Amino acid sequence: MKITIIAGARPNFIKIAPIIKAIEKKQAEGANVSYRLVHTGQHYDKNLSDTFFEELNIPQPHANLEVKSGSQAEQTAAIMIAFEKELIQHPCDLVLVVGDVNSTMACTIVAKKLNVKVAHVEAGIRSGDMTMPEEINRIVTDSITDYFFTTSTTASENLLKYGADEKNIHFVGNVMIDTLYQNLDRISAPAFWSEFGLETGNYIILTLHRPANVDEEKSLVTLLQGIDKMVGDKKIIFPIHPRTKAILGETNLALKNILFVEPQGYLNFMFLIKNSFAVITDSGGISEETTVLNIPCFTMRNNTERPETQTIGTNTLVGTSIENLEKVFAQFLQNGRRKSGIPELWDGKASERIIEILLKK
Ligand code: UDP
Repeated sequence: MKITIIAGARPNFIKIAPIIKAIEKKQAEGANVSYRLVHTGQHYDKNLSDTFFEELNIPQPHANLEVKSGSQAEQTAAIMIAFEKELIQHPCDLVLVVGDVNSTMACTIVAKKLNVKVAHVEAGIRSGDMTMPEEINRIVTDSITDYFFTTSTTASENLLKYGADEKNIHFVGNVMIDTLYQNLDRISAPAFWSEFGLETGNYIILTLHRPANVDEEKSLVTLLQGIDKMVGDKKIIFPIHPRTKAILGETNLALKNILFVEPQGYLNFMFLIKNSFAVITDSGGISEETTVLNIPCFTMRNNTERPETQTIGTNTLVGTSIENLEKVFAQFLQNGRRKSGIPELWDGKASERIIEILLKK
């Protein structure tokens, strides 16, 4: 079986790393499987792309479509045009896409129109929020995907509701968590750890990059100023996403506790998360990682496509206002951590299950 694997953005790189390892393991056992890795070039900054390839030992892509940034439509169209040529030149039996970025949807459409089967890893998750570009990518991708690999039974049920065939839905666990387990003994402190006087439990990690939180400069500044005041004597480490950085420009915010740093590589970032007091974020992936690492996570969104991080894990949905965050955070300081656990099958073996199942298709 010839598989073309698509990766375009930071969370994709983290998800494909263990899938490639699982394929290579099967190859070593003599299975008839090969892969071609296609980087669409959606994320191209060194610290959102190359660093992840290096740190997670992902082989160099066989092709880079170099689409770079653009509006939603420009980027999606550019990926489709480039990937159609790529797929015609390098035919395969299956295109494997992960997550919910524009590359996921664009390459799925191209593959299906060329009559190539598609497997979607992290299928079926839904926020119900149609203002999120990712939700549209999820719905379109899953409406034409052949094989669905899910992280939860809720995601599998969503797919059934949308009319997917039960025999093609496989609840396998979470590939992002495979990567976490595979790298936990390699994580390390960033260079600024001692410079900033960081110690286990004495700082908070903040990440914000969703349009709803960062596209309006005024409300972003209000949020940052509020967070800066809210945390008492704790430092806040803020690895700033290029999108957020572009909005803030050179604005001098005069913040006392928030320390701006570059987006972190995976190994430093996981070290920072694992040793933090709490995390404030609008990322979906981080709410999964904090769940497994048992770190309290406050999600600055009105909804989540990962409800198990709330019901089983450490995640609390806050909404997007600073007033709500202040309230929820004060309650947390008073009541302490709540009891949490690890969702079913988030055991580090999802990628192996996926390849095992695909080889039987
Ligand atoms: N991440 C990282 N360094 C950072 C911020 C995030 O390695 O400075 C990792 C994070 O641990 C998670 C992934 O990037 O695995 C999530 O990416 P992002 O927040 O961009 O995507 P989302 O989860 O919102 O789709």
